[in-house]
Amino acid sequence: MFFFVEVILPLSLAKTFTYSVSEAEYHYIKQGMRVAVPFGKSKIYTALVIELHQNKPILYEAKDIHQILDEKPIVTAIQIAHWQWIASYYMCAIGDVYRGAMPSALLLESETVISQKQDFFVDESLLSDDEYLVYQALQQQSSLKVQDIMSILNKKNIFPVIQKLIDKNILVLQEEMLESYKPKLVRYVRLHPKYESNAGLGELLETLKSANKQKEIVLSYFQLSATEKTRGAAERSGAKPITVKKLIETANSSSAIIKALIDKEIFEEYFIQEDRVNFSGKTKEEELQLSPPQQIAFEKIKDSFTQKEVCLLHGVTSSGKTEIYIKLIEGYITTGKQVLYLLPEIALTTQLVGRLRTYFGNKVAVFHSKYNNNERVEVWMQVLENSPKTQIVIGARSALFLPFPNLGFIIVDEEHEQTFKQVDPAPRYHARDAAIVLANSFKAKVVLGSATPSIETYFNAKSEKYGLVEISERYGNVMMPEIELVDLKDKYFRKRMTGHFSDTLIEEITNAITLGEQVILFQNRRGYSPIIECLTCGHVPHCPQCDVSLTFHKHKNQLRCHYCGYSMGNPTHCPSCSSVELTTKGFGTEQIQHELISIFPNSKIGRMDQDTTRGKFGFEKIIDSFKNKEFDILVGTQMLAKGLDFENVSLVGIMNADNMLYHPDFRAFERSFQMMTQVSGRSGRSEKRGKVIIQTYNPNHNTIQQVTHNDYIGMYNEQLYERQIYKYPPYFRIIKLTLKQRDFDKLKEGAMWLYQVMSQNLNMPVLGPEEPPISRIRNEYIRTIVIKIPLNTSIASTKKTIQKMLNSFEAVAQYRAIKVTVNVDFY
Ligand code: ADP
Ligand code: ZN
Ligand code: ZN
Repeated sequence: MFFFVEVILPLSLAKTFTYSVSEAEYHYIKQGMRVAVPFGKSKIYTALVIELHQNKPILYEAKDIHQILDEKPIVTAIQIAHWQWIASYYMCAIGDVYRGAMPSALLLESETVISQKQDFFVDESLLSDDEYLVYQALQQQSSLKVQDIMSILNKKNIFPVIQKLIDKNILVLQEEMLESYKPKLVRYVRLHPKYESNAGLGELLETLKSANKQKEIVLSYFQLSATEKTRGAAERSGAKPITVKKLIETANSSSAIIKALIDKEIFEEYFIQEDRVNFSGKTKEEELQLSPPQQIAFEKIKDSFTQKEVCLLHGVTSSGKTEIYIKLIEGYITTGKQVLYLLPEIALTTQLVGRLRTYFGNKVAVFHSKYNNNERVEVWMQVLENSPKTQIVIGARSALFLPFPNLGFIIVDEEHEQTFKQVDPAPRYHARDAAIVLANSFKAKVVLGSATPSIETYFNAKSEKYGLVEISERYGNVMMPEIELVDLKDKYFRKRMTGHFSDTLIEEITNAITLGEQVILFQNRRGYSPIIECLTCGHVPHCPQCDVSLTFHKHKNQLRCHYCGYSMGNPTHCPSCSSVELTTKGFGTEQIQHELISIFPNSKIGRMDQDTTRGKFGFEKIIDSFKNKEFDILVGTQMLAKGLDFENVSLVGIMNADNMLYHPDFRAFERSFQMMTQVSGRSGRSEKRGKVIIQTYNPNHNTIQQVTHNDYIGMYNEQLYERQIYKYPPYFRIIKLTLKQRDFDKLKEGAMWLYQVMSQNLNMPVLGPEEPPISRIRNEYIRTIVIKIPLNTSIASTKKTIQKMLNSFEAVAQYRAIKVTVNVDFY
């Protein structure tokens, strides 16, 4: 008798592989357990068992597995089926999905680089012999590979040792050292240990005899820790953590005085990441009261769920969609179901966690790809065990891959956002669409929420595939902002411009600031100006590796490529003709900020774009300081458009509406509408009616008129009509093939070959091979082919045909160096 397991490897391989196991192993192993297996010459990978069987492979001799890594399955049958659906729908390898879905700590392989965690005290007496050996080795060299550890321990079975050391916070995997994201940290204080005893306490009060304000804080500290203790929520140290914020509130004091106490070594400060903090506040006692329009929407959604699986909640900005989600969640968690809440942006999770914890306390967990390995594994296991702590999981798109056993409800908030679609690497899935498929296997319900739904989603709702519930007013009778258009052509002609600011915009900003209100200015380009041009010969400096002009960044006096990161010093004269007459064209956020400083010298001005949010806590810091009114004006890119709630903003200015409109993309008008409507939605979210100024050369452009009149339906109808005529979604499904190679001529030839085969064999529009607007990135040339599949044609069989043609393309020797990526629903 032979016994085999069928496994998925975490490699870009479409096939599954067969390994041989003993009879005892065969009876022990279950689907969804991981096994370490040898693959290739000498590598070991963490494979996932998807089947047990007795069919000897025909083409190769099955190798033995290396070892079993789990005692019970850590991946569910529903997940495996869902991953297979993703692989087949998005035309990628099942190995890609597996690798993308699992936290990397669960995917150790022989090449994984392991190092010691920095600045972490290690109690050597708590280590086992094996753990100690690994730890010792890391004192000699900074990093080890899995294979090194095998030879150090002189055994194959090393994964459990590594896992233990990761659990103990001693080891980290390579990629974590590159981790740039840090969520918001909450600042706490505790008493310095030397005052912990009672004797110390007397001494302490003695020292503070003449410092009344400091003494007050210390007394409030004792008072707080006493009340918290009696609630029975003792922490490790016995005392309940106390935030600086709470302490200042209670003692009615200031952070300067706390700092003095820290300097005196009476207090120590420490930090905990906010979304990891165990919720200790009280959940709200009074129930959430929905307004009448919210209540109606809530009932309608529930009603639609009796007929349909998916419901679109189309509610204007600030209509209080979050509160409706909260009410819906309540219903699911009382029946013990799990809830998944997807957001388009990791940076938004902190805000939302806070809001949900007031209602659901410790039932709320967060999961996303920027969490470190320990935390991701922890959430993974809790979800799998259906722990109450993870009954509601908030996350960006990767949270979709968690091992839910009992999912009841999924929310996809801001469903129109592009970031739900993964671009690179494979799997290039759309989290909204994949969520709907996942929900289906649980018979779970889905709410898609947005003030500006994507055309496809609205189409699905209108054609009654999804339920549709709409709210057209803001919460609390707040009015929609008033939108005023400023004609730039006219303003320039009449010399009413100061830099890029019209007199109208300057006047409105002045008004707002005088009233102590805040202003947001939107410019969808970062840097100082996109182009430097020589006035003598017309030369524009380009990136040496990409086919794009370099962007001028004034602050660093650099030219930079936004595609590959290449940078060079700003030239003092033209690299081509040596002329010193260089000029700039176009403008970005940095230039706007610069101009603001001279127009409003007394105002505080902040900037939010990729350049300013890169550093530690970048995004959080800027949002927090804006909320705390540390800036009067915030200039930013589309990051500003994403669901942020600032109550004191009364004016939003869109510096130039036109550059968005003329993107070479069939979605340009839809996206411009969404972006402008969302940015405008940041204005006037409390009692006073907000104002929006849109500066444009095309005040009569349909899209701009639609934004001005808050006319989503007008935009939808116009776009839908165009989509039909020009053969775009929702009437056609689009698959985009991207071909890349360093050799220009080979690529051109290969792309033509593939295009011809495709257009001859597919009975539908095939476009290309096209040179995209940016046709070279990092020295690779690019060509694209677009296939448009009509609605009445089977997608599955079309994809099969395409895959066959791709396979034969790969088999042509002279095209082997061309890389092809497939993007299904690429928009
Ligand atoms: P949306 O997501 O639709 O833009 P939000 O959910 O952010 O809107 O709500 C806008 C504001 O109104 C928020 O500050 C929110 O706290 C408040 N709000 C909405 N509904 C309620 C409610 N039923 N009770 C109290 N406050 C509410
Ligand atoms: Zn020149
Ligand atoms: Zn470049």
